[in-house]
Amino acid sequence: MTELNVGKTRLTLVQGDITVQQVDAIVNAANAALRGGGGVDGAIHRAGGPDIMAECRRIGGCPTGQAVRTTAGRLPADHVIHTVGPVWSGGDAGEPDLLASAYRRSLQVAADHGARTVAFPSISTGVYGYPKDLAAETALDAVSTAVANLDIDEVRFVVFGDDDLEIYRQALQPRASQ
Ligand code: ADP
Repeated sequence: MTELNVGKTRLTLVQGDITVQQVDAIVNAANAALRGGGGVDGAIHRAGGPDIMAECRRIGGCPTGQAVRTTAGRLPADHVIHTVGPVWSGGDAGEPDLLASAYRRSLQVAADHGARTVAFPSISTGVYGYPKDLAAETALDAVSTAVANLDIDEVRFVVFGDDDLEIYRQALQPRASQ
């Protein structure tokens, strides 16, 4: 199970590197200072070049659960949407709401800039430590709800590891038969 239709939007699942995706907007799992880092954030800045960081510096920062747009520099995409997911600290500190908000706000900002195809990494599941299975469920719930009110043709979940691929497959399966 690697695809699911939600209204007029296709949710798709691919394994690979988000920086090479041919979509209108890719989402970055950024930190609140927008200062770059490791993981997917580092990969996006490395592949996209310095124009992305220059714009991040001008913007200055982004609160957890929110999203901001910059150029995509040299990337094939037109926009990078930088969102800040929550750091996992046990689940009682509002993490699910903040993670859902990160997905929702990213889609809204992407749509505000005319993007119709949007690729997401698995936000917060790297150094931020969010359990991958819980994060996948929240991502799919939040995206499925958000697209109902937006003109988005495709939301692509780009997973890196084999374990992430299997987790997303499992999470998509029951939704396909609903
Ligand atoms: P966070 O700080 O939000 O936890 P990370 O970048 O550490 O963000 O990890 C988020 C997810 O992105 C992890 O599942 C990691 O394996 C994945 N990831 C890392 N590099 C890439 C990439 N180039 N493309 C897609 N996903 C990536």
